[in-house]
Amino acid sequence: MIDLNNIEVAFKIKSDKELKNANFLFSMIKFPLMVRFLGFMSNLALKMRLPIDWIVKPTLYRHFVGGETIEECFPAMKRMFVENVKSVLDFSIEAVKKESEIDKTFQELKWSVINSGKHEAIPFSVFKPTALTTHDVLKKVSFDMPLTSTEQISYNNFVQRVDTLCAEAVKAGKPIMIDAEDYWFQKAIDDVTEEMMLKYNKETAVVYATLQMYRHDRLDYLRYLIELSKRRQIIVGIKYVRGAYMEKERARAAEGGYPSPIYPTKKDTDDAFNEALRISVENCDRVHVFCGTHNEESILALMKYMKDKGLPNDYPSIYMAQLYGMSDNLSFNAAKAGYNVAKYLPYGKVKNVLPYLVRRAEENSAIAGQTTRELIMLKQELKRRKSLN
Ligand SMILES: Cc1cc2nc3c(=O)[nH]c(=O)nc-3n(C[C@H](O)[C@H](O)[C@H](O)COP(=O)(O)OP(=O)(O)OC[C@H]3O[C@@H](n4cnc5c(N)ncnc54)[C@H](O)[C@@H]3O)c2cc1C
Repeated sequence: MIDLNNIEVAFKIKSDKELKNANFLFSMIKFPLMVRFLGFMSNLALKMRLPIDWIVKPTLYRHFVGGETIEECFPAMKRMFVENVKSVLDFSIEAVKKESEIDKTFQELKWSVINSGKHEAIPFSVFKPTALTTHDVLKKVSFDMPLTSTEQISYNNFVQRVDTLCAEAVKAGKPIMIDAEDYWFQKAIDDVTEEMMLKYNKETAVVYATLQMYRHDRLDYLRYLIELSKRRQIIVGIKYVRGAYMEKERARAAEGGYPSPIYPTKKDTDDAFNEALRISVENCDRVHVFCGTHNEESILALMKYMKDKGLPNDYPSIYMAQLYGMSDNLSFNAAKAGYNVAKYLPYGKVKNVLPYLVRRAEENSAIAGQTTRELIMLKQELKRRKSLN
């Protein structure tokens, strides 16, 4: 089995200064109180329109974000590509309501899809469906509730915009992933994604759905998608993640008096995630995989399933991916071993990226093991470099 913890490989492209910045950052966000304070301050700053760029940009932003524009992401993208790690440019935008603002986001997303076709270092494009219509519309459609005429227009525009982005992905010759978000919106998103897969995934997987494996209905949904791919002669594309909104989903379910859509334990989620990978590799002629995780066991499991099936490390329709600024040990060691690896590279203005940054800080504080692992590796590498001087 390959060693995913070679720190020299993991941090090869990072300067000493960057490592020290990361070390400081992870030392801070390991304290839950600090992260709660950060969440509170960022909400306040957003509400009161306080200028916070000066504090966020040189710290969290610099570590987790590529820049404000696609062009500003190029240096980070090129540095990673030298080590065979590719980038998925992820435009961050706060939820907007006005059609004119949604249209502006749509234009940026289109530009992002077009860019995926221009650069070898960008293997996929991606978008958040909630950026293309309102939350109310997605929720109502998901629960079969009647729409007002304005909402119906917004929904029709949403489907049209998703279709246009998928058509642009075909032109770019690179697949496009549709992120998964809150449970409330997901049925509407799944339905549109399926429609797009039926339209565009005849020869290969152009459109990728996202399955959040913390949901206890997703293994059944995967089996349904495989059955659909056989019946309608399409290739399904799937991005697997565990899911980012567990606490919110549980709280909502309790408040709304419906059963939680999330597995009761972390082990259930882990087992479902790995089982989904196993089933997908077993059906690799029908399912193309993008495995988004920082969980080392899941990456090792995927590698084992590929080996057992006799697939080469660089089997073109299997990717593994981590977020920019996290788990470089997995990304760079897997890439060195020849696997297809990408980093999600977010870009956007500070105020738009702020909720994403708070989520990353929360995630790194809540999953104590994750921060500790990052910190241990950063410290080891700093020590190793010092010993060379
Ligand atoms: C490339 C990439 C793309 C992503 N895209 C999306 C996306 O489109 N939508 C989205 O929602 N998220 C997305 N995420 C985030 C992802 O869902 C996870 O929040 C994050 O990656 C942490 O999970 P993990 O697999 O890395 O690792 P781990 O640290 O092993 O797992 C943590 C996760 O396990 C689950 N979990 C933890 N405790 C429990 C429990 N008690 N019971 C049940 N489950 C539990 C939760 O999902 C938690 O986030 C993405 C992540 C990556 C790397």
